[in-house]
Amino acid sequence: MSDVNRELLYAGKAKDIYKSENENEVIIKFRDDITAGDGEKKDTLSKKGFCNVLISAKLFKVLEENGIATQYIELLSSDEMRTKSLEMIPLEVICRNIATGSLLRKYPFEDKQKLEPPVLQFDYKNDEYHDPMLNDSIIKALGIATQEELDEIREITLKINKILSDYLIERGIILVDFKLEFGKDSEGNIILGDEISPDTTRLWDSETYENFDKDIYRKGEEGVVDAYLKVVNLVLSDDEKEKWNVEQI
Ligand code: C5P
Repeated sequence: MSDVNRELLYAGKAKDIYKSENENEVIIKFRDDITAGDGEKKDTLSKKGFCNVLISAKLFKVLEENGIATQYIELLSSDEMRTKSLEMIPLEVICRNIATGSLLRKYPFEDKQKLEPPVLQFDYKNDEYHDPMLNDSIIKALGIATQEELDEIREITLKINKILSDYLIERGIILVDFKLEFGKDSEGNIILGDEISPDTTRLWDSETYENFDKDIYRKGEEGVVDAYLKVVNLVLSDDEKEKWNVEQI
């Protein structure tokens, strides 16, 4: 559908949310924009939105098949999905299986140290405050979520980690870490929202430890979209690749 006929509800750093004709639903458009470093570095890369919408849709479907409630309803086009409308909880729920990224900058972990059990972290999704890390006490004091909701979010996140780690390792990818966002539906149920893509996860080749994710862009290296396209090729079925005309690489 053309953007001019639709009401834009929210424009994020890489996605737009549009009103849907159906009540309790929204349309999420995955743009080709990519950012890093709190939005300081910005680019537009052809096919990036295409890769991320396909990967997110696929991983949401895998999660739904394994009993996780997600926002996802269907893919509408090569950069849009129809989803349930959620009241988003302003938390970035980060789950880590291997120590890398900001964990190494802030704490004395060894590079690539295995984290068993996984390390869970809640950051405040707030640009003005630069997404600071929270604890349960601060979350409750700010009125972001109740203890019961936090306990439920932790439980769902660990389940998601298991489902996706198992799914991806069978396809030659290690799920190193990832960020989730949750929201509440009209009945108050906690539902997984946003996206799961190489923008929001670290994905490593299980043999070579090569990155297939946004770290390529964060480090200023070339080939980030080719890496995302590799993930599309590894996670989608042949039928899905044919349907969406995915370039085989
Ligand atoms: O940078 P850091 O090591 O804390 O990131 C942990 C994980 O969370 C990475 O997979 C990263 O892509 C994701 N993340 C994100 N959005 C943020 C912060 C982190 O998707 N604002």
